[in-house]
Amino acid sequence: MDAYDVIIIGTGAGGGTLARHLAPSGKKILLLERGDWLPRELENWLTEAVFVDNRYVSPDTWYDGEGKAFQPGVHYYVGGATKLYGAALYRLRKEDFGELRHHDGISPAWPISYDDIEPYYTLAEQLYHVHGARGEDPTEPPASAPYPHPAVSHEPRIQQLSDDLAKAGFRPFHAPCGIMLDESNPPFSTCIRCATCDGFPCLVHAKSDAEVLGVRPALERANVTLRTNAKVVRLDTNAEGTAVTEVVVERDGVEERFAGDVVVVACGAANTAKLLLQSASDKHPNGLANGSDQVGRNYMFHDSTAVLALSREENTTAYQKTLGLNDFYFGSDDFEYPLGNIQMVGKSQAPMFRGEKPGETKLAPEWTLERIARHAVDFWLSTEDLPNPENRALVDREGNLTLSYTETNAEAKKQLYHKLRSMLGHLGMHSDHLFSKHAYMKTDIPVAGCAHQAGTCRFGTDPASSALDVECKAHELDNLYVVDTSFFPSIGAVNPALTAMANALRVGDHLLERMGAPAVQREPAGDG
Ligand SMILES: Cc1cc2nc3c(=O)[nH]c(=O)nc-3n(C[C@H](O)[C@H](O)[C@H](O)COP(=O)(O)OP(=O)(O)OC[C@H]3O[C@@H](n4cnc5c(N)ncnc54)[C@H](O)[C@@H]3O)c2cc1C
Ligand code: SF4
Repeated sequence: MDAYDVIIIGTGAGGGTLARHLAPSGKKILLLERGDWLPRELENWLTEAVFVDNRYVSPDTWYDGEGKAFQPGVHYYVGGATKLYGAALYRLRKEDFGELRHHDGISPAWPISYDDIEPYYTLAEQLYHVHGARGEDPTEPPASAPYPHPAVSHEPRIQQLSDDLAKAGFRPFHAPCGIMLDESNPPFSTCIRCATCDGFPCLVHAKSDAEVLGVRPALERANVTLRTNAKVVRLDTNAEGTAVTEVVVERDGVEERFAGDVVVVACGAANTAKLLLQSASDKHPNGLANGSDQVGRNYMFHDSTAVLALSREENTTAYQKTLGLNDFYFGSDDFEYPLGNIQMVGKSQAPMFRGEKPGETKLAPEWTLERIARHAVDFWLSTEDLPNPENRALVDREGNLTLSYTETNAEAKKQLYHKLRSMLGHLGMHSDHLFSKHAYMKTDIPVAGCAHQAGTCRFGTDPASSALDVECKAHELDNLYVVDTSFFPSIGAVNPALTAMANALRVGDHLLERMGAPAVQREPAGDG
């Protein structure tokens, strides 16, 4: 059996980032990824292929709490969900690390403070080429360094929106974007600023995803090996149940086994819980690392709403994700609890509506789909959903995954929607037109839209109420770590990927120390 210093299972925001961080140590590292490389092909940028045919949604079947089967919005590729993500790379707010009172209850404190993770946010912003402008977002947490790249400029309609918001007394800001765009030198910019970014793979590898900026740089080192199409189905332990000794892989129908001194799980929140639960043994009868009964629980994925407003003027924007609004993040004059974040989502294109069952969108008859797309200004509203132990991933004897979820904080979500709706008249938009848009996942089952999945293996100081310790090591095992979004005790209301990346770097430093490897040189960032 091949033996490694570190085995990392899953190559997304958590696993891919960790691989890059550990690679210079010279330690023997194995990456196991159930998916393959995402093919580079013209379809990457074809709206019909991506949004109607769901070409890059990986086949899988999960079940909801009622036992209804559904196709989850998952992407099993090298780079994981980041291959398709919108690359809005936000830090959580400083307050998100403390206890926050919401309409439906408490968002719990994290066992680390914002200051503990701040240096890793800075490093993650550098590794992932984040473009932004400090000092504009009123809720922005303190940062030890400027953004490594200037904010992506607004196109004219979004600049107008920003101006109108400011005129109405709001504080819009340039959103943090992970794209390798060099506006000062377009002929040499990797990113061409196109309209097929959010929810699409990037054909020219200019999106800051975990394949391009995590896995590929790691693989430049001879000590790092990647096995694709390698689905990990089980983790076996020593007789005492104190350490993972074998990682069991299914590859092309054949079983393979690998040994690692350190084993890191980063399969995404639902699949990480699944792997741990289906690795139950005599020593771990409720699932590996699950003496606390917390594995699988507290699943969160944001109370999100994608909507489009109709601009009086045409909206010719290509890359629309440049603006954010956090004025209601912690509440508003008429609502004392946090409401959440408003940001832009990828620009609507007419073929997308075909993927969105247009017959059900109740659009006014005089508006053709093409005309709607031309006038659409598209927003993404995100409210924090609260950790609820009954919202959970469960696995049955056959290995079927159930996601049982009941919405929390619905009132705050509704209030945020009404805030946006009430503003439209001041923003050059039809005030009575705000339409739902099933961004990312065309489905009747909301839980299938699991883009922002988190929770299921919360970290904490108390082994009775958390699965992982503060370094994201399983309380009950000496060599098992988790570095994807599973560790989140709460999810905040901004996008989760940068926090997963920063935490992977934080855990990475701990692992380097554990292995006696030198600390990693910080690499300068540059957009080429
Ligand atoms: C369409 C879309 C848009 C998004 N937009 C944004 C955004 O703008 N900003 C943001 O911050 N976040 C965004 N997200 C969310 C973001 O991509 C995720 O939060 C992030 O990728 C989670 O990282 P992770 O490491 O937890 O999991 P993932 O990135 O999903 O990685 C998990 C990896 O594990 C692999 N895997 C799973 N099971 C196994 C197994 N048994 N064996 C081996 N490998 C396995 C998977 O194939 C995958 O590669 C978006 C997501 C989607 C889908
Ligand atoms: S906007 Fe840039 S990063 Fe995004 S898909 Fe287009 S070229 Fe790639």
